[in-house]
Amino acid sequence: MHIEDLRIQISGQVIAEGEAGFTAAREELVWNGRKPQATPRVIVKAASTADVQAAVRYAAANGYRASARSSGHNWSGIALQDGVAIDLGALNSIAIDRLARIAEVGPAAKNLTLAVALAAKGLAFPVGHCGNVAMGGYLLSGGFGWNEGTWGPACHLIDRAEVVLADGRVAMVSETEFPDIYWALRGAGPLFFGIVTRYWLRLMPLPSAMAVATWTYPLEQVADVTAGMKRLANVLPSFAEVSLSLAAAPPAAGMGDAKFATVILTVYGGSMIEVTGLATNVGDMLPKGALVHTPVTPIDFAQLYGLVDQSFPDGGRYGVDCLWSEDADATFAGLAEMIATAPSVRSNAIAVIYGRNSALRRHLPDAALSMIGSVCGIMHGTWGSPEEDAANLAWLRSGMDALDPVTTGRYVGHADLARPHRMDACHSATARQRIKDLAATYDPQGVFAGRHLQEPATILKNPAALAAE
Ligand SMILES: Cc1cc2nc3c(=O)[nH]c(=O)nc-3n(C[C@H](O)[C@H](O)[C@H](O)COP(=O)(O)OP(=O)(O)OC[C@H]3O[C@@H](n4cnc5c(N)ncnc54)[C@H](O)[C@@H]3O)c2cc1C
Repeated sequence: MHIEDLRIQISGQVIAEGEAGFTAAREELVWNGRKPQATPRVIVKAASTADVQAAVRYAAANGYRASARSSGHNWSGIALQDGVAIDLGALNSIAIDRLARIAEVGPAAKNLTLAVALAAKGLAFPVGHCGNVAMGGYLLSGGFGWNEGTWGPACHLIDRAEVVLADGRVAMVSETEFPDIYWALRGAGPLFFGIVTRYWLRLMPLPSAMAVATWTYPLEQVADVTAGMKRLANVLPSFAEVSLSLAAAPPAAGMGDAKFATVILTVYGGSMIEVTGLATNVGDMLPKGALVHTPVTPIDFAQLYGLVDQSFPDGGRYGVDCLWSEDADATFAGLAEMIATAPSVRSNAIAVIYGRNSALRRHLPDAALSMIGSVCGIMHGTWGSPEEDAANLAWLRSGMDALDPVTTGRYVGHADLARPHRMDACHSATARQRIKDLAATYDPQGVFAGRHLQEPATILKNPAALAAE
């Protein structure tokens, strides 16, 4: 298929390498200020499912890889590949059926927009922790979001999805239609062998009361704080989340480069009395003498995002990695050591212990999301200029390597996928093999970039070369 034929078929925009607007469109594919080297031959800004179908057929016919981009928030920037980049940014619609408790969302619908629209109707969904991340890659990765202790991973609330397959066909995917694709849809992440153009999501009632409270300690006290969090993990109800932030104070606090360990309690309860009582009990189980304690404060989703998003400003250069573990002491100590020695004072880590009542500790449905631990650590290396890349990436990678002895796996949404074989740790061996087998069935030619992430040695073959074999 010639590119001019593609232009005729597309209601969105086709921008070939070298054409006006190409550089800006390429930059926009990845949110991280630190972009991969790859350069697509063609960027298709899709305006409809039909556009995505045409773009996939064009890629297949010309021997290019097709790569989907919803909001470009994958930390490793993998939406930017050679070949045909399919930018789904315009597919961001949200329609809520309040009675059926189903939301129909485009892959580029964002966490904050969805949470606010749902809250207005008394509904909720386990949206991710940062406002501007889109549903597309979030749900495909598994989706660990607000109130996950009660609601579980977001992908298990996908009712059905519209998926464009490698031959350009559209498949409606659910528990009963294409159940094997539905299995992969929930956790395959970038290895998924199709492009999701629409999701239907099962919704939850909005919690009647939400609140946060914090306790801040010197970073050096991380071992005591970890002990307190382990005690809490045994007793907290599923609707209370405790996470640990390891970071310098924001510049506005005027505390220089000093680093802190802050316990953040987020509660989604039935009433403020219940929430306040719980916060008091939590405080009693943490070390005494917090430097700063923010008492329990009512909050809504929009305010929650306001608090979190300031740690991840647009334009920053990020290098991120993560681990699942069963060893909270070693994980939290290792992350604290990394923060203490970080070349950039803006870097920060989040660490969580999933308590015994958390939905994440229960048996998860059979799906590609197959790797999880009771302890999670995420390191966000954050800096400002390209000159700092080398030192910060070396710090990130050596620090995470030091945690290898206690690492049991990684989350595909946060893993440092630029490193060889990082993807291997993101799924169980059985799930990895099943994704590979399904990809071979549904994408035999290797049109989607995911085929190559799992199996870097496989080179996409031009149809003419295939025919000649
Ligand atoms: C600031 C920030 C906060 C985050 N917070 C959380 C969090 O709280 N919880 C959590 O679980 N994760 C979180 N993440 C990780 C994030 O969910 C994943 O990296 C996810 O891939 C981002 O989605 P995206 O649609 O922007 O992906 P993109 O960068 O657009 O795409 C990445 C890859 O995903 C695949 N993909 C994306 N969209 C589609 C689609 N529609 N169809 C098929 N394949 C697609 C493609 O393989 C693509 O290469 C966060 C990331 C950032 C940057």
